[in-house]
Amino acid sequence: MLRAILLSLAGMKGAQRLLMGTPGVRRLARRFVAGDTLDEAIDVTRALNARKLKVTLACLGEHVHNEADATRATAAYLAVLERIAATGVDSNISVKPTHLGMEVSDDLFAANLRRVLEKAKEASNFARIDMEDSPFTERTLSVYRALRDGEGFRNVGVVIQAYLYRSADDMHRLAEEGANVRLCKGAYKEPPSVAMPEKKDVDANYIRLADGYLSEPARACGAYLAAATHDDKMIAAVKESAQRHGVPKDGYEFQMLYGVRSATQDQLAADGYRMRVYVPFGSDWYGYLMRRLAERPANLWFMMRNFGRG
Ligand SMILES: Cc1cc2nc3c(=O)[nH]c(=O)nc-3n(C[C@H](O)[C@H](O)[C@H](O)COP(=O)(O)OP(=O)(O)OC[C@H]3O[C@@H](n4cnc5c(N)ncnc54)[C@H](O)[C@@H]3O)c2cc1C
Repeated sequence: MLRAILLSLAGMKGAQRLLMGTPGVRRLARRFVAGDTLDEAIDVTRALNARKLKVTLACLGEHVHNEADATRATAAYLAVLERIAATGVDSNISVKPTHLGMEVSDDLFAANLRRVLEKAKEASNFARIDMEDSPFTERTLSVYRALRDGEGFRNVGVVIQAYLYRSADDMHRLAEEGANVRLCKGAYKEPPSVAMPEKKDVDANYIRLADGYLSEPARACGAYLAAATHDDKMIAAVKESAQRHGVPKDGYEFQMLYGVRSATQDQLAADGYRMRVYVPFGSDWYGYLMRRLAERPANLWFMMRNFGRG
């Protein structure tokens, strides 16, 4: 119920204006966001790298409704790739389809993503396409395939959400194609016709999908799994699957969000696992923060306590 309310608030402009101006909310955002600027994000990346943590940098922004804004977002990503190359930090990037223009048209998103992938290729870097809500799932996978398989960009990966009923079929096909897939549970408000409403079903599906993706047939096709979760049960299950299928620790990776379970991130890295932290930055943090609050109501109480404070 609370999750549904928070995810609805994520799309409301009035609530956005009110909450973004509230000091307690801004303070909470800073827990999950590296800062407003690329300089701050690079500083955070350096500090994470020093703890043996890899990074994926994300410029905050989504639901762009015109070509000019999508072009600006693309330019921001080109600057991120240049800075990663210039500083030598260990980071790739994550992009959102609606930030790069998918709500204007799939062609605009494809054109912008192509520019990003060309720049990433020059720097031997990699871009992951985040997955947004279900109206974009098929379109996102189509653009991904057009660029990867149609145009030969091998430096691109996608995300699959375990809560969607369709994901077993998607993972099966992506495994055959040798895709680099980030598997997450899914963060958006979805109808029960599309996504499993029960957490226990999502968890069971996550474990099933991860296991299939780490299996010998999938890996023989070149499939690579990035297991994005903060859930100890998922982490244990992924480790167990990898061991059972004989996948070495550098044959897959774990991913977590900046500001969430840092001690676990350090522990996984210390134990020799590949651990990548998703580091968002920029001033457009509202939708991102609302999804983080929906995942963990305890964060909401922190925000309420601070709501009126100056
Ligand atoms: C690297 C990364 C990339 C992602 N990319 C996408 C994407 O492209 N599309 C998409 O739909 N979703 C994405 N997600 C979000 C994901 O779908 C989940 O909503 C989110 O990860 C919470 O699920 P969980 O697996 O951590 O398990 P949960 O069952 O939600 O949480 C397990 C435990 O983790 C801790 N925890 C989880 N979330 C938080 C939080 N916000 N604050 C504090 N503690 C927390 C708590 O201890 C909780 O008990 C991404 C997540 C990660 C880690």
